[in-house]
Amino acid sequence: MQVDVMVLGSGPGGYVAAVRASQLGQRVVVVEQKYRSGVCLDVGCIRSKALLRNAELAHLVNSEAGTFGIRIDGAVRFDYRAAYLRSRKVPTAGSGRALPEEEERHHRTHRARLLHRPAHLQVDLAGGGTETVTFDHAIIATGASARLLPGTALSERVRTFEEQS
Ligand SMILES: Cc1cc2nc3c(=O)[nH]c(=O)nc-3n(C[C@H](O)[C@H](O)[C@H](O)COP(=O)(O)OP(=O)(O)OC[C@H]3O[C@@H](n4cnc5c(N)ncnc54)[C@H](O)[C@@H]3O)c2cc1C
Repeated sequence: MQVDVMVLGSGPGGYVAAVRASQLGQRVVVVEQKYRSGVCLDVGCIRSKALLRNAELAHLVNSEAGTFGIRIDGAVRFDYRAAYLRSRKVPTAGSGRALPEEEERHHRTHRARLLHRPAHLQVDLAGGGTETVTFDHAIIATGASARLLPGTALSERVRTFEEQS
């Protein structure tokens, strides 16, 4: 496949750039290995705020119910699994997708790597095999990963984002 603009990563960085390039008349391909709308919309910003809202409500019920005139008779229990599942279902802007059908057609859900040949990208297809994409321009928007400060370590109760997802 030959395109004008190859965008690697469909997070807020890559996706918006892809939409704009397409609006400007470029033939665009977005290559994404995991998250249809990137980390922020699919697993990061929105989902974590949904969990924060849960924590806020739990705190309110536990510690401030009286202040708000809420009287609870009997035990209050919290179900973290339900809270987690709710956080995964909260709708995000990405679920509507901004790319029109034409650009969406070029969206791929596969892992990709730049080759040691100029302007060549190798895409590992989900069903096996590879596809080579050649491009005039590349936008690399592959996000970031967490890095620990030297001399620090995570406890066993905390997993890195990459391990978790
Ligand atoms: C738990 C959590 C909460 C957050 N909360 C907030 C918040 O409240 N506010 C805020 O502003 N930011 C928040 N962030 C940060 C925000 O998610 C990032 O700043 C944002 O997603 C970065 O966008 P991006 O497009 O640069 O990269 P990403 O969204 O990370 O997208 C990069 C994409 O590239 C893909 N990719 C990488 N390598 C390859 C490859 N070789 N082949 C194919 N695809 C590849 C990845 O699968 C990924 O989908 C949060 C992050 C996390 C983890």
